[in-house]
Amino acid sequence: MCGIVAYLGPKQAYPILINGLRRLEYRGYDSAGVALLNSKLNVYKTKGKVADLEEFVRDVDISGTIGIAHTRWATHGEPNYANAHPHFSQSKNIALIHNGIIENYAPLRKELETRGYKFESNTDTEVLTNLIEDIKINENVSLFEAVRIALNQVIGAYAIVVIDANDPNSLIAARKGSPLVIGIGKDDYFVASDATPIIEHTKNVVYLDEEEIALIKRDSDLKIKTIRNKEKTPYIQALEMNLSALEKGGFEHFMLKEIYEQPSSIRDSMRGRLHAEAGSVSLGGIIDYEQKMVNASRIIIVACGTSWHAGLVGEYLFEDIARIPVEVEYASEFRYRNPVIYESDVVIAISQSGETADTLAAIELAKSKGATILGICNVVGSSIARATHAGSYTHAGPEIGVASTKAFTAQVTLLTLMALRMAQLKGTLTKSRFIQLLHEMERIPEKVQKTLEVSKKVIEIAEQFKDVRNFLYLGRGYNFPVALEGALKLKEISYIHAEGYPAAEMKHGPIALIDEEMPVVFIATNKGTYDKVVSNIQEVKARKGKVIAIVTEGDVTVRGMADYVIEIPETEEMFVPLLATIPLQKLSYHIAVMRGCNVDQPRNLAKSVTVE
Ligand code: GLU
Repeated sequence: MCGIVAYLGPKQAYPILINGLRRLEYRGYDSAGVALLNSKLNVYKTKGKVADLEEFVRDVDISGTIGIAHTRWATHGEPNYANAHPHFSQSKNIALIHNGIIENYAPLRKELETRGYKFESNTDTEVLTNLIEDIKINENVSLFEAVRIALNQVIGAYAIVVIDANDPNSLIAARKGSPLVIGIGKDDYFVASDATPIIEHTKNVVYLDEEEIALIKRDSDLKIKTIRNKEKTPYIQALEMNLSALEKGGFEHFMLKEIYEQPSSIRDSMRGRLHAEAGSVSLGGIIDYEQKMVNASRIIIVACGTSWHAGLVGEYLFEDIARIPVEVEYASEFRYRNPVIYESDVVIAISQSGETADTLAAIELAKSKGATILGICNVVGSSIARATHAGSYTHAGPEIGVASTKAFTAQVTLLTLMALRMAQLKGTLTKSRFIQLLHEMERIPEKVQKTLEVSKKVIEIAEQFKDVRNFLYLGRGYNFPVALEGALKLKEISYIHAEGYPAAEMKHGPIALIDEEMPVVFIATNKGTYDKVVSNIQEVKARKGKVIAIVTEGDVTVRGMADYVIEIPETEEMFVPLLATIPLQKLSYHIAVMRGCNVDQPRNLAKSVTVE
C-alpha cells in the first residue's frame, strides 16, 4: 500500500527515485509523484501509473541530487492530480510524502483554515504539511523541530519524508504505524517503504521504529530521535535480500514466477526446522515460548485475508494433531470486539508483510491483556516481527505479486511445523506416526513440483470458464480453507465473483445458485470426508452444475462424475492444502490473463495493508 522513496547524495536523484517507485509498484497504488530540489523545489505528479509520471516529466527540469517520490493508494479524496503526493505547503517551501492516515485531519484543517490556510486537495496529508509549516513559522523552529512538534499533535498512522526548498542538504523522515527503511550508502542516503528500492544501492539499512524521526543530512551521520525528543542510536543492519528475487526471471508475471517458486519456498520454510532422520522439529524463533504453547489454554490466531485462510488450516492442524483448542479471528473484528483474552492464551499473528495495520492493533490489544504473542511473517524486520514476543519467519523470499501465493503455502508450512512440534512435546501422536509424518512432509516440495507439472489441464479449464460471472469453491475439513483461498484468489485477480464454502453447507443456501451455468470447484481428495464430498458432487451434478474436481492421483469415482478433474499426488490429509492450493492458484492466474487483467497489480488492491 503506497510507496515512498527518497534520495540524498552525489548522484542525480530522478533515475533512482523512478526506479525505486517501479520496485514498489507491487504494493498497489493509483497515482504517482516526485519532488526534486535543485535551485528550485519542483513537484511533478499525476494520476495513474509510474509510466504516466515518466511521460509527464518528459520535457521538464528533473535535475537535482535530492528528492522524494511517492505512489499513492487513495484514502482521503479520489485519485487525481490534486490529491497525489508530494504535497506542497502553502508557501511552497515544504513538500511532503505520506503513507497512512491522519485521523484527526478534519479539526486540524479547520483550525488551519481559520488561520488563513487554503487547501488544494482533499487529503489528510496536505493538512499535515501545512501544520508543519504553521508550527515552523509561529514557533520559529527548525524544520526538524516543526515536524517533531506536529507529529505530537496528529492521531493516526504515518510514514513521511519531508523536503525543504531552502535546504538542499537534508531530508526528514518519520514513522508511526507505517514502515520506513533508511539505506546508508557510501556517501548517500536512501529512504523507502521497504527494502526493495534500496537493495541495489546498499545492504546497510536502519529500520525506523515507531514514533521515531530521522534527520538525514548530506555528509553527516544519521540522527534519530523519538517524537518525544529522546535521542536514539541508529541500529544498522545488513539486508539479506537478493536482487534476483525482485526480477521476473523470464516469467510473464511475478505471480506466475512465485507460483513456480513454491517447491523451493516451501523447502526454505522447512530448512533447519524439519529433521525427519533425527525424528524432530525445531523452531529456533519460538524455542523460549514452547512451554507456554504446550500449557496454553488455547491458541488464538489473528490475521486478515489469505493469512486468515492459512490460520484456518492452522486450526485444523493444532486441534487434530496437538490437541490444543484454536480460535481463528479476523484481526479487524477481534480488535474492536472487546474479546475475552487470558494470560494463558497464546496468540499467533500471521501477516506476509508484517505491516498489516489491523493485525498489529490486534497484537497490541492481546499484549495489553498479558497474552503471549507469536508472529509468522515473511518480511524480515517488519513491524509485526518486532511487536511480538517471538516468532518465525516464513523465508518465502520477497512476494511481489499482490495476490499471495508462495507466502500462503509458506505460512501453512510453518503452522504445520508448529503443530508437529507441539505434538512432539505433548506426545499426542505415537512416535512411529510422528516419524511417518515428518518423512512425508519432507517430500512435500517434490510433490508440489509434481503438482505444478500435472496441472497443465488447468489452461483448458480456464479457457472454458473465463467468461462466467460466478464460481463456487467447496471443500471439507482441511480442504475447506483451501476452497476459501481458491475463491479469494479468483476474485482478487480476475474480478469474477467467487464464493468458498464448506461443501456440506451448500445445501443450506448456495445450492440455490446451481444451474447449468455454474462452475463448482470441489477439492475432493481421497482422505477424511471423501465419501461425503462425493455425495455433495452428486448433488451438484443432479442440478446440472459444472464440476471441476481436484482429486488424488488415480481417483476413479470422482472422475466418473466430474466434468473436469485435476490430479494431485497422494499425501497425508493434513498436507493436502499445500498441494491442492497450487492448481487453484494456476486456475485464477490463467483466467485472469485470458480476461486481460493486470495480474500482478489487481485493481484497488494493495500488497501491504497499512491502513485499517
Ligand atoms: N492518506 C493519504 C492520502 O489519501 C495517504 C495515502 C497513502 O498511504 O498512499 O493521500
